[in-house]
Amino acid sequence: MAERFHRIALIGIGLIGSSIALAVRRGGLTGHIAVQSRRQVTVDAAQRLGLGDSYTIDPVQAVTDADLVIACVPVGAFAAVAQAIAPALAPGTIVTDVGSVKRSVISQMQPHLPENVHFVPSHPVAGTEQSGPEAGLAGLFDNRWCILTPPAGTDPKAIERVQEFWQALGMHVEIMDAEHHDLVLAITSHIPHLIAYNIVGTANDVEAVTRSEVMKYAAGGFRDFTRIAASDPTMWRDVFLHNKDAVLEMLGRFSEDLTALQRAIRWGDGETLFNLFSRTRDIRRDIIEAGQETDVPDFGRHSGDEEDGLPRPYSSD
Ligand code: NAP
Repeated sequence: MAERFHRIALIGIGLIGSSIALAVRRGGLTGHIAVQSRRQVTVDAAQRLGLGDSYTIDPVQAVTDADLVIACVPVGAFAAVAQAIAPALAPGTIVTDVGSVKRSVISQMQPHLPENVHFVPSHPVAGTEQSGPEAGLAGLFDNRWCILTPPAGTDPKAIERVQEFWQALGMHVEIMDAEHHDLVLAITSHIPHLIAYNIVGTANDVEAVTRSEVMKYAAGGFRDFTRIAASDPTMWRDVFLHNKDAVLEMLGRFSEDLTALQRAIRWGDGETLFNLFSRTRDIRRDIIEAGQETDVPDFGRHSGDEEDGLPRPYSSD
């Protein structure tokens, strides 16, 4: 059983912050949840939803006396958050984050944090395409993976406590180097989002296909892309601006493979197409076997309370 925190401060209370609040409450993991958000309207929504025990727009007030601080803001906002909270952090406080890019978040936060606090960067790889405090789900993290990327020299006890915290929220935890994280997530999350944004944008621009045809025939595959392409524009703009190197590296590989497929189609090379499509079908089966997806046929008509208990639509990050 994870050691309880006396006061957990959530800096940012959108989809991820609110889901943490609900899961922390479910697990009885703290005596006090301090909720902070930049705008009063978001703080008011969080209060209406009963997500915390105290509410403020002031980051200093939220982190005062906290033994765990979790920053849940867009990737471009971490330097300002670290700067704002640093003077109010008590010695020994554990600071973590949920940013989808790790190298950038570390370089934004670390220089501002006092040496006597423990910084253990995290990325809970779970989400939906929705945002804001109303989007929170207590079960969002169940059976998903959380990646920790502690910089060299981080106190092992602090790493262990953060690891136990995410496990208590239902997650499996893996520790890796921040650079490797950014490369892995570029191909598993960031480029899929880029492709979705691009294909939905292209379909919208193709003059030969009318908008009503796009809507009518969306079940042909397009619909799944529109779900991902509905993800929060601020969050995703920041992900691409802050994981530029890894995304461009993986995008180069992706473009080469796409060109090979283009050639196979042009030359009627069915074998190349068939072999690739068989290989990718096996990957889907492996993901189902790993418990990260179900094999329930997806008509795009889920009611949201399926028996498997997993939130739908599925993860966008
Ligand atoms: P969200 O629902 O849009 O919530 C964002 C929160 O950050 C809100 O409290 C918002 O405050 C605050 N915020 C926005 N811009 C800010 C700024 N410039 N300075 C300070 N605070 C700001 O976002 P989210 O989906 O929870 O994502 C939060 C973080 O989790 C991101 O770093 C993202 O990369 C990461 N993440 C997301 C997912 C996912 O699928 N969504 C999954 C894993 C990790 P106001 O509403 O008061 O303006």
